[in-house]
Amino acid sequence: MTLHYYQDYQCVKCETYYLPFQSPVTLCPECGEPNLQAEEFREIIKLLVEANATHRTTYGQFSPPAYGVFSLVDHYIYYSATIFDMYLERQVPKAQIIEEVIANETPSWQEHLREMLYQLFEVGERRGIFSPISVQEGTETEKTVEDNAEGQ
Ligand SMILES: [Zn+2]
Repeated sequence: MTLHYYQDYQCVKCETYYLPFQSPVTLCPECGEPNLQAEEFREIIKLLVEANATHRTTYGQFSPPAYGVFSLVDHYIYYSATIFDMYLERQVPKAQIIEEVIANETPSWQEHLREMLYQLFEVGERRGIFSPISVQEGTETEKTVEDNAEGQ
């Protein structure tokens, strides 16, 4: 089962979609407008890490074999999953992965995403989501997980 959340957030000034993850104020990465962190985003970093932890226990990897993106939060669940999988596969420092991923963004988006990704990694490491795991469901063997990964 994949986890989905139906939360969206837009800048009050330029209507850009972004996660207001910084407490108490996040600057819009598009126009710089300071926005108060909305109530429902106060735990957003933790929520993204928990979704990733659940998906990894279920599927053996952070990215579910199929995942529909229905909201801004879903988008960032999938985005962080891809980056976490890359991190485990490539065995390089997280700083290298983060800089590669944000390389093509504008400077203010780079700053925004870099901070968000460092927070995600930090919370994820504390939560132990990068430790070796065994897949929970008895029906899902390791072979199946590999086949799914190749099919993407
Ligand atoms: Zn804006």
